[in-house]
Amino acid sequence: NLTKLTDTYELNNGTQIPIVGFGTWQTPDGEVAEKSVETAIEAGYRHIDTAFAYQNEKSVGKGIKDSGVARDQLWVTSKLTGNDHGYENTKKAIDTSLNNLGLDYLDLFLIHWPNPVAFRDSWEEANAGTWRAMEEAQKAGKLRAIGVSNFRPKHLDALLKTATVTPQVNQIFLNPSDLQPEVVKYNKEHHILSEAYSPLGTGKIFAVPELKTLSEKYHKTVAQVVLHWSLQHGFLPLPKSVHKDRIIENTKLFDFELESADVKTIDGLRGVAGLATDPDTITW
Ligand code: NDP
Repeated sequence: NLTKLTDTYELNNGTQIPIVGFGTWQTPDGEVAEKSVETAIEAGYRHIDTAFAYQNEKSVGKGIKDSGVARDQLWVTSKLTGNDHGYENTKKAIDTSLNNLGLDYLDLFLIHWPNPVAFRDSWEEANAGTWRAMEEAQKAGKLRAIGVSNFRPKHLDALLKTATVTPQVNQIFLNPSDLQPEVVKYNKEHHILSEAYSPLGTGKIFAVPELKTLSEKYHKTVAQVVLHWSLQHGFLPLPKSVHKDRIIENTKLFDFELESADVKTIDGLRGVAGLATDPDTITW
């Protein structure tokens, strides 16, 4: 019974996170990023997802400021890049992202990848230090929520050995192409919210015939069907677009409900837009 973009999920530390976030990966730095973020906020999004690695934090921050919407009405997420794991690096990286965005706190900060190349042989120790820095920043009020991204159960198990705070969020590749059932189950059992990145398969789901059929059945676009499906699963989708008409289209998600047979059809589309990347194989 979600009815609007400003509805929230409650995270395991009691913070309320808006149920749809606006994605900014591959959004060019400068005017495109500024404008798309400002347009998204005008269209009603109250949740913006960026990362140091996207190299557009400054423009995203400008778009947020230009929107004129009060800071406490917005949810802003950024992420720790692969070179900055470990306690000292992480403390600095949090301040760098805050400075880039022109903010004095973030709503959510995530470890972007569990075992980037720079820490491939020492990722457990590096993440333990990172997490300690994030817990401290959360206590100090710089981060309202803390979490991880692209973590599999083995990475979470390792983190939880020394963590005093359970991650609030795990942001993972989650769309009709890959439901990552083991990760989603683990998240649920630990009260970690599953955020759905690439909810539209980075644009690769639009040609899937089954989705076109459902789009016709519900008189909704493929994007709307798939984003609604994501919400029906209890995920938090993060659609990205740099086009105003699509940015708006991706907000019109609340005047229909998918029948359970159709949800199952979409669940069965595994592989149509590739599968989640195994963190052990990333090359950065
Ligand atoms: P999405 O799955 O959101 O798909 C975006 C693509 O679909 C773009 O090419 C966009 O084109 C197109 N598109 C968007 N809406 C529509 C529409 N209504 N009709 C037709 N085409 C549309 O892609 P992302 O992979 O960017 O994922 C979304 C966000 O998730 C990222 O931006 C980022 O914030 C996050 N993410 C996080 C990762 C992580 O490691 N934690 C990894 C990947 C993503 P156009 O822009 O030209 O309109």
